[in-house]
Amino acid sequence: MASEAVKVVVRCRPMNQRERELRCQPVVTVDCARGQCCIQNPGAADEPPKQFTFDGAYHVDHVTEQIYNEIAYPLVEGMGPPRGYPGGGTGYNGTIFAYGQTGSGKSFTMQGLPDPPSQRGIIPRAFEHVFESVQCAENTKFLVRASYLEIYNEDVRDLLGTDTKQKLELKEHPEKGVYVKGLSMHTVHSVAQCEHIMQTGWKNRSVGYTLMNKDSSRSHSIFTISIEMSAVDERGKDHLRAGKLNLVDLAGSERQSKTGATGERLKEATKINLSLSALGNVISALVDGRCKHIPYRDSKLTRLLQDSLGGNTKTLMVACLSPADNNYDETLSTLRYANRAK
Ligand code: ADP
Repeated sequence: MASEAVKVVVRCRPMNQRERELRCQPVVTVDCARGQCCIQNPGAADEPPKQFTFDGAYHVDHVTEQIYNEIAYPLVEGMGPPRGYPGGGTGYNGTIFAYGQTGSGKSFTMQGLPDPPSQRGIIPRAFEHVFESVQCAENTKFLVRASYLEIYNEDVRDLLGTDTKQKLELKEHPEKGVYVKGLSMHTVHSVAQCEHIMQTGWKNRSVGYTLMNKDSSRSHSIFTISIEMSAVDERGKDHLRAGKLNLVDLAGSERQSKTGATGERLKEATKINLSLSALGNVISALVDGRCKHIPYRDSKLTRLLQDSLGGNTKTLMVACLSPADNNYDETLSTLRYANRAK
């Protein structure tokens, strides 16, 4: 892998009830020890399976707790006070994405279930982790803030704002970089408060009806935890450090033909596909390392995440997969997308 700053893992969910009723056959196999995932074309049994290798591969028995501990923990750990703080380290930004077709387990991975505790999502685990690490740091003052937005049809909305329908503008500041004008930032003092914010914002997302899943999310949602820390060392010198963690639940990656989309839904799908391919292009340009031009400006999603992708940042992508033969094409396209990002 060209860049250690980008890690990609895949997670295959169990068959759901619909797939079982349709008597679907599993076509995905995972070799966790090797981080490998194979997919067999159900229409060509004599073809060898296509094989992909990632930084991690998880199958139906793996819980979010394990994925977090193995892959997300090191990324989030770097957000908090470094060992030996004050004085050491510079803050960095991080981004965790969930990618995949609707119904593949993105929200399950990011938001998760409260019960069993092993399936709590990456978002609640990350802010619990951030809180614990800042609280443990001695002689340190810190401020933790959260914001939650969605990008729907290339329009940005504040999921925690007083008017969640209002379209917000992206602006560029010479020092601060790209920001969303008018986005509400919420100071959080506890994990419970953070969890409440997550639930509130989640309910405000735009949900569209497609044939695949009536709760399909047609928007990208970005939950951001920002930390500012200040500590005074033995010589009385003040050290300031700031970090930001973006937790992104991407819109379903399925192609338009399978969703039965027409009219408004087709327009949405086209914009979703455009922004997902813009994200793929940015990540593969970063991983490649030789590109002088990183095409951040091609979508709102990549513009907004510009300061958290590339440079001194860390990125994790969890590509979510269905095991079923009737999702073969979508699953293969998810694997190819994920493969380009590593
Ligand atoms: P997406 O956000 O990609 O549209 P969801 O996360 O809503 O998909 O998952 C669709 C359904 O599958 C949900 O009912 C969810 O609980 C279930 N599911 C997803 N991943 C898993 C998993 N790893 N284990 C058990 N159930 C899962």
